[in-house]
Amino acid sequence: MSLADAIARLDHRPKDFLPGHVWLAGAGPGDPGCLTLDVLSALAEADCVVYDALVSEAVLRIAGTTELHFAGKRGGKPSTDQEDITKRLIGFAREGKRVLRLKGGDPYVFGRGGEEALALVRAKIPFRVLPGLTSGFAGLAGVNIPVTMRGINKAVVLATGHAAGTDEDLDWAALAKTGQPIVVYMGLKNLPLIAPALVAGGLAATTPAAVIEHATTPRERVVVATLGTLADEAAKAGIAAPALIVIGGIVSMRAELAGR
Ligand code: SAH
Repeated sequence: MSLADAIARLDHRPKDFLPGHVWLAGAGPGDPGCLTLDVLSALAEADCVVYDALVSEAVLRIAGTTELHFAGKRGGKPSTDQEDITKRLIGFAREGKRVLRLKGGDPYVFGRGGEEALALVRAKIPFRVLPGLTSGFAGLAGVNIPVTMRGINKAVVLATGHAAGTDEDLDWAALAKTGQPIVVYMGLKNLPLIAPALVAGGLAATTPAAVIEHATTPRERVVVATLGTLADEAAKAGIAAPALIVIGGIVSMRAELAGR
């Protein structure tokens, strides 16, 4: 049976995408195979797509001739940019367009989706959220790192490394004390601060750790090391954003699962 046959048999009627509505959707980590059916159908129906830098070309290609608007953040002034993005979403909706706001991964996981949703509520713009596969789960699975593994962990921490070294930083020592694996988003630049903070909090420097660049895309690269050596190894390999960091015993499953 072909994919078209399977879709024809699928008894799923997506909700109507009405003019003047904004759908806040997650495009997954990059591989179009990680798209949900609702996001795929929204891509087919939208009048305009407002997308982030993390949305892959393979996914954008699906939009075909639909109006595409890039809303990637430029460094420096995130809040002004964010205001500008929400203004654009509201403007397009008021023009009567069906607006697809497409974000990498899941829109409510470190994607400022919550802020955009709040702005839409305040502007009385009808909206809906279409979840996506977050990179912290799908990206790890793609490189044979199970997010939970019986006998290894009973919880997993999703953290942002964005604020490391500032007044708004997380208490890394407290996270280290849980002994549970930590998946760090937006942490590459601050890895040289985060790793020692975790060691100071009690995590062994020998704890398995990995960094995954461009997870699930043709540009995917993985560096496996230990908490103590990961920052150096990632720098040596020239790893750049977007990248996920994962620290914990689950990383050691990769060798076995990948048969290497
Ligand atoms: N909403 C997104 C996360 C946005 S924050 C999600 O659910 O995945 C941006 C961070 O996500 C990046 O700095 C990186 O840490 C991570 N990220 C997103 N996509 C990624 C990918 N394909 N490969 C590696 N990291 C990714």
